[in-house]
Amino acid sequence: MAAAAVSLAALATGCSGGGTAPAGGPTAGAASAGASSTAASAAASGSAAADPLAMSTDAALWGKWGLKPMRPSPVPPADKPIKLTRTGKVPVFRSVPTDQKVVFVTLDDGAEKDPRFVAMMRDLKVPFTMFLMNDTIKDDYGYFKPLQALGNSIQNHTLHHPPMSTVSAARQREEVCGDQKILTTQYGVAPFLFRPPYGDGAYSSTLNASVQACGPRAIVYWKETMQITGMQYQTGDKKLQDGDIILAHFRGPSELKGETMTAMFTNLLKRIQEQGFTVARLDDYIQKP
Ligand SMILES: [Zn+2]
Repeated sequence: MAAAAVSLAALATGCSGGGTAPAGGPTAGAASAGASSTAASAAASGSAAADPLAMSTDAALWGKWGLKPMRPSPVPPADKPIKLTRTGKVPVFRSVPTDQKVVFVTLDDGAEKDPRFVAMMRDLKVPFTMFLMNDTIKDDYGYFKPLQALGNSIQNHTLHHPPMSTVSAARQREEVCGDQKILTTQYGVAPFLFRPPYGDGAYSSTLNASVQACGPRAIVYWKETMQITGMQYQTGDKKLQDGDIILAHFRGPSELKGETMTAMFTNLLKRIQEQGFTVARLDDYIQKP
């Protein structure tokens, strides 16, 4: 199959519905039941266990979702690898410089509001960052509050999801400042990160100025895109690398060929685990301005 062409297409489509999900990677043996107890006991050590927001180490809870316990997130570096400034040009990043075997999960838009996903996250406490777009969340801002209460920050992803390079600077500011105001009001915290729809215009000076004008202090791109069962990679070796940021979406059966958000997320965690990675919280690797 023309795998390279598929991954390039994925890079271009970003958050669009697309529906061009590939056949997905091999579903490996990772699904076999009977989690090894060593993984669970290893997980129980470390200071992270004392943190009520740390990932669960309870094998039974992971088993409930068809998963083995994920390795606990390592202690994040005291000297944050990404440091944001209060003023000036905002940086664009799509991975975090680290030698820890961690990746970061981001969930975009907000259309699907599956209560089972909230239940899953209450059980597992996998950290992720939300980039919420007002058109998709305005019918139920409350859905995201229990996810936020689990330590997952809510970040800016525009009001209406236009490709930013196709709109005027004034419209860019309406999009970013508008979402910033609503998210700050609804969730009580001002977003400090921005993700442009489709990643479009991320590196343009016009968008950079618009973001600066509205409050976020960095633009976050991504390395891999989660589909339904497999991930699309931007590199030919199709492997996760230390510090990669993964893009996934709040999507449900209508966009996932009948699969649920929780099934997609289970697949995502398996793809991460089978490559020897665990998930860490992006906020813990960023020094806020
Ligand atoms: Zn999006």
